[in-house]
Amino acid sequence: MKEVLFIFQIMITFFGIMFFLNCAGPNTKRLNSYAAERKDMVKNQIEARGVSDKKVLSAMEKVPRHLFVSEQYRTEAYRDYPLPIGEGQTISQPYIVAIMTELAKLKGDEKVLEIGTGSGYQAAVLSLLCREVYSIEYIESLAKTAGQKLKELGYKNVYVKNGDGFIGWTEAAPFDVIIITCALPYIPDSLVRQLKEQGRIVAPIGEEYETQILTIFEKTDNKLNEKEYEPVRFVPMKGEIKKE
Ligand code: SAH
Repeated sequence: MKEVLFIFQIMITFFGIMFFLNCAGPNTKRLNSYAAERKDMVKNQIEARGVSDKKVLSAMEKVPRHLFVSEQYRTEAYRDYPLPIGEGQTISQPYIVAIMTELAKLKGDEKVLEIGTGSGYQAAVLSLLCREVYSIEYIESLAKTAGQKLKELGYKNVYVKNGDGFIGWTEAAPFDVIIITCALPYIPDSLVRQLKEQGRIVAPIGEEYETQILTIFEKTDNKLNEKEYEPVRFVPMKGEIKKE
């Protein structure tokens, strides 16, 4: 009799678990698996390459990168490479987003200017670590999609506008930090003027089709001091800079 009761108990537990898993449904399972992929990405692609700022790692673990790419690339969202976002542009590799964010050295109260909104993903990561993010995107359709996406996901301290980052965002200046996510040969004066004293710029410096160098600039006495970090590859800056 005891054994029968025991088997009965096991059966009830088994069906209970099955019922629970079923209730969780495919969406919950998928969400859990994206969260697990994100954790993996942070550990194996980002921490493993030396990013150690706990706040940056935590932001990378929170932002749903798969929602910033089209359906077609969703399952690849947490892999170790950039992905197409349309109009010949790309969302940067996760590690690059993380290292650029770490190099910005955000404490929480900064006003940040991003040039090259793209998908809006980097802006979302930054928004968790500072007061406000102002992001400029040259391609109108990308600016529109990114702006809508950020709003829909509840990133309230991010402002997106369609325009040429070369001239910056005068109405919102001065900025504590400027992050440029397209490659450019030098930092335009307009951006230096819109950066606060002791402010930082993180940008890939170099020509199109060449390897660029991720560079950190600090403004002292109205001049930029620069420090090279590592070679990177970004899509080139469009617009005014090409005419210079
Ligand atoms: N930070 C983005 C990826 C940027 S890809 C993300 O997280 O998804 C580089 C972006 O810079 C592209 O979308 C490109 O259209 C934009 N860009 C190029 N030149 C620009 C300019 N002059 N001003 C603003 N954006 C520019």
